[in-house]
Amino acid sequence: MHQLLRSIPAIHGMLNDPQFRNVKETYGLSDQVLTSLIQRAADALRQDLIAGIKPVNSSMKSEVLERTNALAKKWGKNQLTRVINGSGTVLHTNLGRARLSERAVEHVTEIASSYSNLEYSIHEGKRGSRHTIAENLIQEITGAEAAMVVNNNAAAVYLILKGLAKGMEVIVSRGELVEIGGSFRVSSIMEESGAQLKEVGTTNKTHLYDYEEAINEHTSMIMKVHTSNFSIRGFTTSQSRKELVPVTDAHELIYYEDLGSGSLIDYQSAGIGDEPTVKQVIEAGADLVSFSGDKLLGGPQAGIIAGKKKWIDKLKKHQLARVLRTDKMTLAALEATLLHYLNLEALDELPVYRDINISASEVKRKAEHFMKRMSHLGTITFTLKACTSRIGGGTMPEVELASFGLHCQLDSYAPHELEKKLRLSEPAVVGRFLEEKFFLDFRTLTDKDIDDLVIIFEALDQRS
Ligand SMILES: *Cc1c(COP(=O)(O)O)cnc(C)c1O
Repeated sequence: MHQLLRSIPAIHGMLNDPQFRNVKETYGLSDQVLTSLIQRAADALRQDLIAGIKPVNSSMKSEVLERTNALAKKWGKNQLTRVINGSGTVLHTNLGRARLSERAVEHVTEIASSYSNLEYSIHEGKRGSRHTIAENLIQEITGAEAAMVVNNNAAAVYLILKGLAKGMEVIVSRGELVEIGGSFRVSSIMEESGAQLKEVGTTNKTHLYDYEEAINEHTSMIMKVHTSNFSIRGFTTSQSRKELVPVTDAHELIYYEDLGSGSLIDYQSAGIGDEPTVKQVIEAGADLVSFSGDKLLGGPQAGIIAGKKKWIDKLKKHQLARVLRTDKMTLAALEATLLHYLNLEALDELPVYRDINISASEVKRKAEHFMKRMSHLGTITFTLKACTSRIGGGTMPEVELASFGLHCQLDSYAPHELEKKLRLSEPAVVGRFLEEKFFLDFRTLTDKDIDDLVIIFEALDQRS
């Protein structure tokens, strides 16, 4: 045993060994990190030997080398990593939803790497509120009396219910009790918040009298939930804010809409979907609305609450507001994103809008240009195909965006093998299957993505 333990080479020697230097190169490690990894690999080997586990490699050095490599692979670089999104879904929740604008990224970088006036009033030279900057922007853009920002829209819903309806009844139409993204259910959030869900109507029909009959002295709120990722067609009736606001006003109840995506510009007039703008909902008399920062808005993960000052003030003072408060990086990204709206440059600057608005013919041009660059490949075949992309993120489920992409086939590889190779490449490439072949939708691909795809496919071609 002692013999075995003593045969583990000295750390210093391994550090200068070409094979270990190679690990350093491959993963771009500093000497310090390499030393630490070798140390940990050698320690683990020692533990195994003491526990009687036999080494698999012929020499102790190759035993440590293998373990160092495994450690470097796991810890030598970031695991949260860039993905090329060829899925055709613009707001893909699994892939991080909205990409930030360049200006938002720059702003985050500056605020994250320095001190800031996050909660400090530069004018008054004393403590300020972290809500102010985003609130002012949201007021300007939506016309709301007041606003605040929390961690995500689920947190916004929770805070509103807990802060304003705990122990009271909240009326919701059965047609709106949907589950979003497999983890957000209004009924569950409601239960957690201590507010009592009062379901009215049926899945396809809820009449105004259903709401009116449900109101009693325990009612605090009528809540309308955007049925984001789901739509009921056919024999349906639902009540719009136009009918509901007078009812809540007459009974001094809160009228609250969970808008889900919360569009700040009018997609409807651009011919995409039938999403109202936040401003329209506020103007229609909603007391409160909440929506996500990283869906159609095109900013960071956040939950925005806007509406009547009376209610927002109460929410700001709630203990939970502290629990759900957003970080400076989020607030920086949100500020820069909202400024794009205020300055009427959102359509040009926000990746979400560029990706949604790009025409099928422009996407086609991107795909064709890529095919030309790939014409020298021997074993990979690309076939241009029209397809439809989706907005995703539970946003405008009905909308199909005409798009283009490429069927990709690699000689002697099954489609799922090619899919796996691309998924495990660096950067990772995520596509989808269309007609049982691997398919890349070019809608959301940037120039950089396409340059990287060229390199990835060239390497695959040489290997096969
Ligand atoms: C997406 C969505 C949520 C959850 O928002 P997050 O920002 O993901 O927490 C809540 N309600 C509706 C209607 C949604 O579409």
